[in-house]
Amino acid sequence: MHHFAYKAGVLHAEDVDLSNVAKSVGTPLYCYSTATLQRHYRLLAEAFEGQNALICFAVKANSNQGVLATLAQLGAGMDVVSEGELRRAMAARVAPEKIIFAGVGKTRSEMAYALKQGILGFNVESEPELRALNEVAGELGRKAPIAIRVNPDVDAKTHAKISTGKSENKFGVPFAEARALYDLAAELPALDIVGIHMHIGSQITDLAPMRAAFTLMRQLAKELLAAGYQLRHLDLGGGLGIPYDAKDPLPPHPRDYAAIIVECLGDLGLELVLEPGRIIAANSGVLLTRVIHVKEGADRTFLIVDAAMNDLLRPTLYEAHHDIWPVREDLKSMPPVVQDIVGPVCETGDYIALERSLPPFSEGDLVAVMAAGAYGAVMSSTYNSRPLVPEVLVKGEDFAVVRPRQSYDELIGLDRLPNWPA
Ligand SMILES: *Cc1c(COP(=O)(O)O)cnc(C)c1O
Repeated sequence: MHHFAYKAGVLHAEDVDLSNVAKSVGTPLYCYSTATLQRHYRLLAEAFEGQNALICFAVKANSNQGVLATLAQLGAGMDVVSEGELRRAMAARVAPEKIIFAGVGKTRSEMAYALKQGILGFNVESEPELRALNEVAGELGRKAPIAIRVNPDVDAKTHAKISTGKSENKFGVPFAEARALYDLAAELPALDIVGIHMHIGSQITDLAPMRAAFTLMRQLAKELLAAGYQLRHLDLGGGLGIPYDAKDPLPPHPRDYAAIIVECLGDLGLELVLEPGRIIAANSGVLLTRVIHVKEGADRTFLIVDAAMNDLLRPTLYEAHHDIWPVREDLKSMPPVVQDIVGPVCETGDYIALERSLPPFSEGDLVAVMAAGAYGAVMSSTYNSRPLVPEVLVKGEDFAVVRPRQSYDELIGLDRLPNWPA
């Protein structure tokens, strides 16, 4: 559920008229709803009530500090995958003790920076990384708190580009090798073993692979505890899916997801760390774009809008579906037209929606691309020298520009002409 709805014939985010936001900020723009972010966070937190659980929002889904601060105020920790994300999380006043650092390719300088901040832990994905982290921590005279990311080789039954828990994916260490790597970690003096980590993929709509992974995690946790390892937490990753297409069946409710986790792992006396991204942020945001031209092609209608693949990459990268809503409600009752929504970028892959039966939009109309709050603005680029898209956060009747549109000076001003000798 989200807080985007028609009021007096115009699409609103909470109590804010989106046509006014477009007028004031210009299009394209991302607009996020505070109430929706809060609702999703609370739904998840309530599902784990009574458990010792920490919800670490996956910053890669939406790294705007306005969004991070909104979640941090509710008690969220953060899951980061780079020094940049760690800096953003801390700038949004997230305590380092609530931050987990994940990712297959942490550099030594990133490790050192995170160690100095005193983060909750590193999710380590390979033996070379384990050894490098031990060296960096040793040089700093610190101990690095670690969990090893275990790849359970289960099929998350999601899009190939967001599946991470199969043996052919680059993530984690094979389940069969995990115990040996823990034994190695125990011998490295600057490491402190605190947990186990798993994350099998994203946009998961079937709980069966989750259950399979958590069952394996239980087996490993019991083995490590029996061997005397003083585990403190189990990091279960993120991955819960959301309904991108209103016509699709609803994905699992956080309640059912939590029930499986509690059933598989709730009796081990360990803190449960969760890394949800999409389930919190996706439905909390829309991409607002304006129609530039309606182009009648030889065999279809192209709606050319001012947002493009550089602003929202998901359709191009994942063949992702986003529902499309007109900002003017009266358009919904007009006879629909089958059309492609495309951007101005010079790529055939530059599209937002293909062969959709949608209202007969005209030049100047505003179009809302729904469920764009996760993996949207964070993946934006300046391809075709298009300025980075601005972001707006709504709260009740108010809205704030939480990232202004990049100016043309900022866009081209970092280039330098080489000063070659003549
Ligand atoms: C991407 C990612 C997440 C968040 O995934 P969602 O599908 O957005 O919940 C969590 N943990 C790790 C390690 C990730 O790579």
